[in-house]
Amino acid sequence: MQFSPSPLQKQHFRNRDFYLKRDDLLHADFSGNKARKLHYFLSQEYLHVRRVVSYGSNQSNAMYSLSVLARMRGWEFIYFCKQIPSFLQQNPIGNYKAALQNGMKIYQSEDTNLSANALARKDTLVVQEGGRQSEAEFGLKILAQELQDDIRTHHLQNPFVFLPSGTGTTALYLQKYLQYPVFTCSTVADDVYLKKQWQMLEQNEEFFPKILDISQKFHYAKPSLELYKIWSELEQYTHIQYDLIYDVVGWRKLLEYWHTLQGDLIYIHQGGLLGNESMLERYKYKYGIIELLKDEKNEDI
Ligand SMILES: *Cc1c(COP(=O)(O)O)cnc(C)c1O
Repeated sequence: MQFSPSPLQKQHFRNRDFYLKRDDLLHADFSGNKARKLHYFLSQEYLHVRRVVSYGSNQSNAMYSLSVLARMRGWEFIYFCKQIPSFLQQNPIGNYKAALQNGMKIYQSEDTNLSANALARKDTLVVQEGGRQSEAEFGLKILAQELQDDIRTHHLQNPFVFLPSGTGTTALYLQKYLQYPVFTCSTVADDVYLKKQWQMLEQNEEFFPKILDISQKFHYAKPSLELYKIWSELEQYTHIQYDLIYDVVGWRKLLEYWHTLQGDLIYIHQGGLLGNESMLERYKYKYGIIELLKDEKNEDI
């Protein structure tokens, strides 16, 4: 199976032009960059495989995308997570709901990594948390080739790429195959963590992307009014919805460097919008709708 190249669109935000690679539009059923990372598993025959096993959080984009892969290939999908709150079980939303609709079998486990890897056998594909695995290289090489074409078509003179990282797998393989600089930042932990992730996948440090340092740290996936403001400002002025876990932190960091990073910025929109449903619920729970609306109003004044 092949994906058609995703569009590259010219955008404008806070007095600067930039280019947006719309990987969120890559495939209707996959969550953005997870389609790239799982592409390999769609391109091979895999006649011996009958089930796929993975683990991670109960609202993960990777979990949802794996459920799509399993459904498309007719595989069983088994997933382990630390907690499935009873409230979520009774009121499924977001990635969790969609993955269940695709036939996911989900189990709680104290040690999710151990539980998943214990099921490894000949007919079973075990995918590490967040899709951190060497097979991701296949699809990201294709993304790098698309970007080279985009850069030529749009006559970009001095291009560089920015994308926020979780495991860092996407940024790493992109830099490996792209002649232009790739910048990223961690949304999960610090720069040391990101480097460790890369070292697990790649020996040659020349392929490592450049990390944007930031003065302030954010807790992974934790609602923050500051991040929400950036998110709604982006939507208001670009009419594009970004994801509330990775993109908001990415944009927050990118804006710190907005005037110092010279050249043609290409931002990779990695999808993940299905996950916004559950994030917005958490925002409403934490701040209340009234406060969120009030904050948006204040910005107009
Ligand atoms: C998974 C994901 C990321 C992080 O990708 P990594 O390869 O783990 O760095 C970023 N953005 C979105 C929307 C994602 O779903």
